[in-house]
Amino acid sequence: MKLVENKVALVTGASRGIGRSIALRLAQEGANVAFTYLSSVEKGEALAQELEQYGIKAKGYRSDASNFQAADQLVTDVVADFGKLDILINNAGVTRDGLLMRMSEENWDIVINTNLKSVFNLTKAATKSMMRAKSGSIINITSVVGIRGNAGQANYAASKAGIIGFTKSIALELGSRNIRSNAVAPGFIETEMTDAIDSKATEDWKQSIPMKRGGQPEEVADACIFLASDLSRYITGQVLQVDGGMLT
Ligand code: NAP
Repeated sequence: MKLVENKVALVTGASRGIGRSIALRLAQEGANVAFTYLSSVEKGEALAQELEQYGIKAKGYRSDASNFQAADQLVTDVVADFGKLDILINNAGVTRDGLLMRMSEENWDIVINTNLKSVFNLTKAATKSMMRAKSGSIINITSVVGIRGNAGQANYAASKAGIIGFTKSIALELGSRNIRSNAVAPGFIETEMTDAIDSKATEDWKQSIPMKRGGQPEEVADACIFLASDLSRYITGQVLQVDGGMLT
């Protein structure tokens, strides 16, 4: 028996990086996968075909997670197309780094709306159907930066810390309905997001990690599968770090 056989999962921001790995891992474990993308249209459209090779149903939706109405419509469409929604993975995220003195209001708003408001948008929409089913698993991708802060990332750290508070609050509100809410906090994972960091800083990051290497998107996806599946059926309100020991 596969770990999430016949479940329906929705993953935001799956056109590349961690979200793409999560979508593939869910499909390998038997879930039907709905996913979103925004600017990477070709990659998003190609992913559906790749996922279907695992013998499951897959569909991509071009949808902006930071838009409240769009998120509500997305969940309505997913439930109409797939019949239900069991697993929500809030993964979509961006960075707009800069020291506070130089951080614009626009870069604050983009990061907070894309990373944090999106989690509110999607979770509020998804829990309507999960409450009717009296079952659900919500997984929010935060970051170790949301736990300890990071110079030059006040907007990003605030958004990721906000996700942790949201995750724990929802666990308290919805535990009695058998809806679980957990967060995954990756450390330094090698994706296009971290490719943007200069190579000296990347090397310094890696040296500060006890396991002396960056993580791979698949390693974050494995943690998500655990939290999505019944293997974690008595776990809620937790933050699982996937960071090679970076933050201990
Ligand atoms: P990435 O490679 O930059 O991919 C980001 C994904 O988010 C893309 O698929 C992008 O879609 C999507 N996205 C961005 N804005 C969106 C929006 N408004 N609506 C819907 N989708 C949107 O990033 P990543 O490294 O895989 O990161 C994924 C998540 O992990 C993020 O939440 C990030 O903060 C978190 N994280 C990453 C690391 C790391 O080291 N990489 C560490 C800790 C946490 P399009 O390309 O189609 O626009």
